[in-house]
Amino acid sequence: MLDAAQKGGYAYPAINVTSLTTINGALKAFSESKSDGIIQVSTGGGEFASGTAVKDAAFGAIVLAEACHLLAEKHDVLIALHTDHCHPEKVEGFLKPLLQASRERIAAGKGPLFQSHMFDGSVVDLKENLTISKELLKECAELGIILEVEAGCVGGEEDGHDTSGLPIEKLYTTPEDMLEVYEALSGIGRFMFAATFGNVHGSYKPGSVKLKPSILKDGQKAVTDKHGSGAEMDLVFHGGSGTSSEDLQETLDYGVVKMNIDTDTQYAFTRPIVTHICAEHRGRAQDRRRSRQQETL
Ligand SMILES: [Zn+2]
Repeated sequence: MLDAAQKGGYAYPAINVTSLTTINGALKAFSESKSDGIIQVSTGGGEFASGTAVKDAAFGAIVLAEACHLLAEKHDVLIALHTDHCHPEKVEGFLKPLLQASRERIAAGKGPLFQSHMFDGSVVDLKENLTISKELLKECAELGIILEVEAGCVGGEEDGHDTSGLPIEKLYTTPEDMLEVYEALSGIGRFMFAATFGNVHGSYKPGSVKLKPSILKDGQKAVTDKHGSGAEMDLVFHGGSGTSSEDLQETLDYGVVKMNIDTDTQYAFTRPIVTHICAEHRGRAQDRRRSRQQETL
């Protein structure tokens, strides 16, 4: 899927899910658009899916992934499963049990549970980030799983992780960082890279976030100048909600193959529910008023 996207100059939407209903919503949308795509689970989504009395992110992610495997069979598109931001302190409790679940599935003659996982080491310095990333990529590669890494910081707030107070330069990955990530990981296995270029979590009106897609171009150039055109990396665009199509198109030109959309799909899911409930509530209230008036008559 990633090779096809690189070749075709497009990116897959990566949709966060938390329940059977949202999985089915994403599958229906992919199916109707005749588009392959990515369904992903965050640690918060996993916790929620495990039940709010249980709150086990890895267990909930396993439940959602197994459901996705079954439900996706009913659709004629390719669906890749992915897990979203996992910070260093959650590796043991989230990523490790999920890798173990894949190991068990592979031993039973099936494919891995998830096709890719994200390790988000942006909270530690790049050296430590890459030390952990290398270890995890090695483990993923043995299972045929891709690892997404992040350097720089996605702005905004998601899943209780708030980076809005960070200095502005943290929101932009430098070409030197991109080169360092490539050189650390390229020999180990397939990876995707969430390089940051001013993108933020949450939905903003176009224009209120200063995106600098040229950051991605400069970083890819630093890598391909030194290592050849085959070294172009698979990039991930976080915080895709509310992005103008011009900005989006530009990022595709620089190697973005996965674009995370969460806020917009949360609205797409909750707005019709709220509208339906409000309309029903008004309708019922009117019915009650009418029947009271008839009784009085
Ligand atoms: Zn993100």
